[in-house]
Amino acid sequence: MHVRYSPLAQQFAEVDAVFDELRALVKSGDFTLGKPVQEFEQLFASALGVKHAIGVGSGTDALKIPLRALGIGPGDEVITAANTFYATVGAIAEAGAKIVLVDCDDTFCLDVAQLEQAITPNTKAIMPVHLTGDVAEMPRIMEIARKHRLRVIEDGCQSLMGEFNGQRVGTFGDATAFSMHPLKIINVWGDAGIVVTNDDDMNRRVRLLRNHGLRNRDEMEIFGYNSRLDSTQAVVGKWIVRQLPDIVAGRIAAAAHYDKGFGSISGVTVPKRRNYTKNVYLLYVLFVERRDTLLKHCLDRGIEAKIHYPIPLHLQDALKPLGYKPGDFPVAERHCRETISFPVDQHLSRAEQDYVIETVREFYDGKRG
Ligand SMILES: *Cc1c(COP(=O)(O)O)cnc(C)c1O
Repeated sequence: MHVRYSPLAQQFAEVDAVFDELRALVKSGDFTLGKPVQEFEQLFASALGVKHAIGVGSGTDALKIPLRALGIGPGDEVITAANTFYATVGAIAEAGAKIVLVDCDDTFCLDVAQLEQAITPNTKAIMPVHLTGDVAEMPRIMEIARKHRLRVIEDGCQSLMGEFNGQRVGTFGDATAFSMHPLKIINVWGDAGIVVTNDDDMNRRVRLLRNHGLRNRDEMEIFGYNSRLDSTQAVVGKWIVRQLPDIVAGRIAAAAHYDKGFGSISGVTVPKRRNYTKNVYLLYVLFVERRDTLLKHCLDRGIEAKIHYPIPLHLQDALKPLGYKPGDFPVAERHCRETISFPVDQHLSRAEQDYVIETVREFYDGKRG
């Protein structure tokens, strides 16, 4: 059996409605900041229950632009999780601020117990990352932020519709970034990102910054970027955002099926599930023994398993100037050695999942006997 990683071929199998709207858009020439962008922004904001949603060019820009909107740049420090995806630290670097890393714990989110030690007089913001689809300890992070007068930009790129104590990702911080890259929870046909906020001033500044700092056609208030969400991508976004509840429910159900199957395999540890977070499972990650051999075993049997991520971020060449060393973030480093990810999405069949589970069981049982 072949078990693919990406569900995009199935997700976009029936898109006549999208093409109909694109055909009309092409005739209208409404390509930049057009009507579909406003319509998509409204649909997205109401799906999340937030006041403002602002479409931008990528999830990375959706992190960078709110930092700039808060005036964060050179000389400032921004704290984020040591196990995050490259884009989080890339956005901080693009804003010109210094990246300060804090180790994660086995929820794959920032270890809040270590957060306060990382705060210095130069710290301006915390950028918690809701990695894998689970949700960082936001109430405690917000409490620490208030105590030290810090801003909070949530990286929600992996946890669209995730919740902590019933409160959604995107409603805690000053602003939150989401991505609609082809590997995220909802996808457009290329790169796209979106900022959400309940703050009117943040909304205004993000809208200025995404479009050259233009107050209107002729007046430039500040320096900004060309980071508009394309009208064409917004058409796809409108189509897919309506399916968001089903997409998320499908991922959660698939993860529950895996949890049941993997729970009984020695050699495999299912991460602890907290009953007060709603994990939307952008990734389905397990802790496993003899990880690299298991990965090969799965790939040889047609399962597109992956590693998120094999090289610790703080040891990447790009981060060398920060001076981090091996051993600085032991949990993040262990995750790089001991985790494996399996496909998990709304289109994966139970038969495919059972094949994945049995392939892993066979690997450990074979060695035991
Ligand atoms: C994907 C991702 C981003 C950036 O999104 P792009 O749209 O690819 O720029 C940022 N942070 C995390 C945690 C991500 O997974």
